[in-house]
Amino acid sequence: MNEHKVVRWIGKQDLREVCKIEKEVSFMIKKYMTFQKNNGISPYIWTILCILPFYFIFQSSSMIKIIVGILLTILFFIFYRIAFVSKGWPVYLWTLILIGISITATSLFSYVYFAFFLAYFIGNITDRIAFITLYFVHLISTSTSINYSIVTQDELFLTQLPFVIIIWISVILLPFNIQNKKERGQLEEKLEDANKRISELVKLEERQRIARDLHDTLGQKLSLIGLKSDLARKLIYKDPEQAHNELKDVQQTARTALSEVRKMVSSMRGIRLKEEILRVKQIIEAAQINLVCDQEFTLTNVSLLTENILSMCLKEAVTNVVKHSGATSCCISIEQSWKEIVITIRDDGTFKGAEEDLAKGHGLIGMKERLEFINGSLEIMTKEGTALIIRVPNDVKQTDKEKLK
Ligand code: ATP
Ligand code: MG
Repeated sequence: MNEHKVVRWIGKQDLREVCKIEKEVSFMIKKYMTFQKNNGISPYIWTILCILPFYFIFQSSSMIKIIVGILLTILFFIFYRIAFVSKGWPVYLWTLILIGISITATSLFSYVYFAFFLAYFIGNITDRIAFITLYFVHLISTSTSINYSIVTQDELFLTQLPFVIIIWISVILLPFNIQNKKERGQLEEKLEDANKRISELVKLEERQRIARDLHDTLGQKLSLIGLKSDLARKLIYKDPEQAHNELKDVQQTARTALSEVRKMVSSMRGIRLKEEILRVKQIIEAAQINLVCDQEFTLTNVSLLTENILSMCLKEAVTNVVKHSGATSCCISIEQSWKEIVITIRDDGTFKGAEEDLAKGHGLIGMKERLEFINGSLEIMTKEGTALIIRVPNDVKQTDKEKLK
């Protein structure tokens, strides 16, 4: 069954469903990848923090204390999970219960590390008021329980004082750090959306431009051909001479339309550097300037946009050599490394551009602007002739970079 038939067979509704599922899957994969990328060693830290309470609990001498400790730890993790999925006022309730368990664990078992879990949880609260309130409640309660344990000279607590200080600093900084990270993530997502939207709009604009061009060129010409051939048909017996002229017009209009379509297509396709070099060679030869090109130029995996801009710059640079330099020879070199593409156009004439000339002409300024658009640069050296050095960062893929090294 070919693709066309399959599409018809599944139907539009199903196709939409498939697209939706595909989108969801790719979103999940993306999320998983970002989780992997963002978290690094943190899953291991979390695992250690989850096992650690039991070490502290088993330091206690009485059996009741051990049972209470285990129960509190299990409850903490259950409530922690519930707090993560709840919304609205229950968030306050669960957080307060969790803070209570954390204080109890600090004073009973000298286990202060639940505060770290709470700092992480509070950092993830999206509601601003809830975040600020719970942040301060948590900070005050943790500081008080730490101070209390220090004052009561709890031995186990004092031996781990450096870690306690680290936890206390995390309680102060971690929530804000997480909030900032989340905000940055949201902004990045918005930026990505905006970029997608812009590229959609650019496509739409381009489609409209093509439609306009087609209407203005082909549309009018075809209707003219229609009218003229109709007229010729009517005149063919009555006035064969006039009919002959009309048919000539039809032929002429068809030719013009064809050449306009060709121009349109070639302007849409953009100019490849290789094609531009051939044209530039012809221009230089026509001006009787000796051309020195050191090698065959082949650019690897450069985007069409970059190549178009480089072609425009090369054309403008060579036109300037022919127009202004009075040179006898011109040298063009193109080098591509993993980092950048460098095009040098050197002539042995004299640079005539005063400041006001540079401002008057559009060529050099236009080149600079276009290159800036793709993070490139233009350098003009006017010692012993003129040398234009065009640099653009290489946008080749990783695998191609390896080859170029
Ligand atoms: P336009 O490019 O807009 O048709 P233009 O060529 O005069 O006009 P630019 O290309 O910006 O403008 O060049 C600015 C000036 O720099 C020129 O008028 C010319 O005097 C000088 N110039 C540029 N390239 C060369 C060159 N290769 N040799 C000598 N002079 C040059
Ligand atoms: Mg110019």
